[in-house]
Amino acid sequence: MPESAVQPVERQLPTEEARDLLALVRELVQREIAPGAAQEEADGRFPRELFTLLSESGLLGLPYDSAFGGGDQPYEVYLQVLEELAAARLTVGLGVSVHSLACHALAGYGSKEQRAEHLPDMLGGGLLGAYCLSEPSSGSDAASLRTKAVRDGDAWVLSGTKAWITHGGIADFYTVLARTGGEGARGVTAFLVPGDAPGLTAAAPEKKMGMKGSPTAQLHFDGVRVGDERRIGDEGQGFAIALSALDSGRLGIAACAIGVAQAALDEALRYATERRQFGRPIADFQGLRFMLADMATQIEAGRALYLSAARLRDAGRPFSKQAAMAKLLCTDAAMKVTTDAVQVLGGYGYTADFPVERYMREAKVLQIVEGTNQIQRMVIARHLAGPDSR
Ligand SMILES: Cc1cc2nc3c(=O)[nH]c(=O)nc-3n(C[C@H](O)[C@H](O)[C@H](O)COP(=O)(O)OP(=O)(O)OC[C@H]3O[C@@H](n4cnc5c(N)ncnc54)[C@H](O)[C@@H]3O)c2cc1C
Repeated sequence: MPESAVQPVERQLPTEEARDLLALVRELVQREIAPGAAQEEADGRFPRELFTLLSESGLLGLPYDSAFGGGDQPYEVYLQVLEELAAARLTVGLGVSVHSLACHALAGYGSKEQRAEHLPDMLGGGLLGAYCLSEPSSGSDAASLRTKAVRDGDAWVLSGTKAWITHGGIADFYTVLARTGGEGARGVTAFLVPGDAPGLTAAAPEKKMGMKGSPTAQLHFDGVRVGDERRIGDEGQGFAIALSALDSGRLGIAACAIGVAQAALDEALRYATERRQFGRPIADFQGLRFMLADMATQIEAGRALYLSAARLRDAGRPFSKQAAMAKLLCTDAAMKVTTDAVQVLGGYGYTADFPVERYMREAKVLQIVEGTNQIQRMVIARHLAGPDSR
């Protein structure tokens, strides 16, 4: 196999502007994001300066309205940018996706005044966001969340614990779902909480299998007071807002998964053309050739599925079912492809001298976040067969 076996991904992009954007992203990735990834992941160091750079380069608000500091890019372009970032460093790709998720509530449901006041800083002013839905006792069953927001005059007082918060403890703002009414989804309201709010503290970051550079922490709200002007949408609308954010966020996770899978395939291809056994490059053996062919096919299928869901979203059509399908298929593909990449590298694949073991650890979390893949199947089945009758 020739050395040119590893080629840059051929992307379908709708405009010249989008092609220029992808070229800029590839340059940034090569110059700033890929170098240091392995070491900083091993050290568990969060590369905050890269997020500042991305913000300065207009890459933290790509899918949002330029009137508020966003990049006006369709999802089909934004997601391909995410894919390239995640291929270099999942901590960065997923971090951008989570930041975008945290901006979704205010951008989509905030009042004109709220958007004018907060969005420019959130989308292009160097701030970093986090999204707070999960709690220690409510993960998949998110509608049973217990963090409370109680009205006190013109303000709300938040108490409770959020769990697994990406950027927990380092974010500048938190989009928080809290209970303001009775039990269930209808009792939940969304709030925008500043990172330095008195009473808000973070626990030590979780010790994770992968994505060690990305802090994931519990957040404690101990009488955190926010004005009513920081309530997003109507009282009781929070869960619908949270789910709407997750529909878009799942597309981000799908794109990140394909980025990680592509990086693993590229590494496997590079290795297979160089490593020789039985007097020949191992890429000559049909057993490996078929494995590489299957890996590439799953990646292309996943990319096509997330792009087709993104194009539905860009056209203003319903895309919730397709987003769940894309998240499911792309993250399962990433798990399979990265596991196979370790196999292609043999014993070396199992060491930290090559990046494939990191990709395998990174792929695993993508099957869990923003709704586990069991939950994605429930969402898809609900679209197909209606709510279950229990
Ligand atoms: C690294 C990381 C980052 C994260 N970042 C964030 C974040 O920024 N913000 C945030 O809000 N959350 C975040 N999460 C939380 C994540 O969304 C939850 O972990 C996830 O939703 C699952 O919840 P759980 O861990 O409580 O698992 P559980 O809900 O307890 O599920 C345990 C198992 O049971 C299965 N299961 C549960 N219910 C059903 C069912 N009805 N049918 C079939 N199977 C079922 C699940 O699929 C899973 O396999 C993060 C998690 C991780 C690991």
